Amino acid sequence: MEVRLNTRAESVCIDGPAGRGRVTGVETAGGACIPADAVVCNADPLTAYASSLIPAPHRPRAFQDAATLDKIEPSTSAFVLLLGVRGDYPHLAHYNSFLPDDGNAEFTALFERGVPADDPVIGVTCQSATEPDCAPPGFSNLFMMTSPPALSSNFAWTEPETARYRERVLDLLETRCGLTGLRGRIVCEQVWTPRDFEQRYGAFRGSLYGISSNSWRSAFLRPPNRARGVSGLFFVGGGTHPGGGLPLVTLGGKIVAEAVIEAKNLPGPQK
Ligand SMILES: Cc1cc2nc3c(=O)[nH]c(=O)nc-3n(C[C@H](O)[C@H](O)[C@H](O)COP(=O)(O)OP(=O)(O)OC[C@H]3O[C@@H](n4cnc5c(N)ncnc54)[C@H](O)[C@@H]3O)c2cc1C
Repeated sequence: MEVRLNTRAESVCIDGPAGRGRVTGVETAGGACIPADAVVCNADPLTAYASSLIPAPHRPRAFQDAATLDKIEPSTSAFVLLLGVRGDYPHLAHYNSFLPDDGNAEFTALFERGVPADDPVIGVTCQSATEPDCAPPGFSNLFMMTSPPALSSNFAWTEPETARYRERVLDLLETRCGLTGLRGRIVCEQVWTPRDFEQRYGAFRGSLYGISSNSWRSAFLRPPNRARGVSGLFFVGGGTHPGGGLPLVTLGGKIVAEAVIEAKNLPGPQK
């Protein structure tokens, strides 16, 4: 088996007419086509259908054009601060959830106004609280996350918007979460916005869990693991069946491995 790291898949090569296609390989960034009779796509199906990854004639009607894709409601995204800080905060456990006084205001911001909440739930993981080797002696490592909506024209995560939101969250960490003097103790930092999740990982509009599961249809009828109309093409990951989040994504990997074995009549795993 050969593993090619840092190699972007540009396009799935498909032979045959629309609705009755068959995969023949994958074209990578350098233009080389790697022949294959089964292709498992870990990119979000919505991103795959919206980009050059799946050639237009082979996209299902529901995902064929930008206007249709625009109507799909994605799940929420994330704003993340990764902080290395001097000293420690003894009141922090490994995982901490800090709730605002008015929880309903966050739902109104996310689902009615489509913008990040001004006073959101903040999750803070302090890994060094339970695993001291994860930070140098005398320092702590913090992962801080809030859940803004996926990218939209309501909030585009431009540099000034991101800088303002970072300041707001640092204010809340210092006051509501008790991380006093945090700003002065930061020695290294990374900021991740929905735009990063879209650009680095191909997440559809930066959403973490694919299509929003806010209706029974979108929860139970997710884009299928076997691509419609293209034999040999499979989807795996949070954007497809059975859904997002690590337990479901892992289960999806098993389902797709079994589907490939069955479709290609391959020997199953050794028991
Ligand atoms: C900050 C954050 C916190 C989270 N917290 C939790 C949690 O607490 N519990 C939980 O269960 N879930 C959590 N999740 C969600 C969970 O991480 C995702 O549901 C899961 O990782 C999705 O798996 P995936 O395989 O679909 O996507 P990914 O893990 O994003 O993998 C997709 C891979 O495909 C690659 N790719 C995409 N397009 C191409 C291309 N064209 N060519 C080559 N490679 C490509 C990407 O680079 C990426 O490596 C969290 C996610 C984030 C971002």
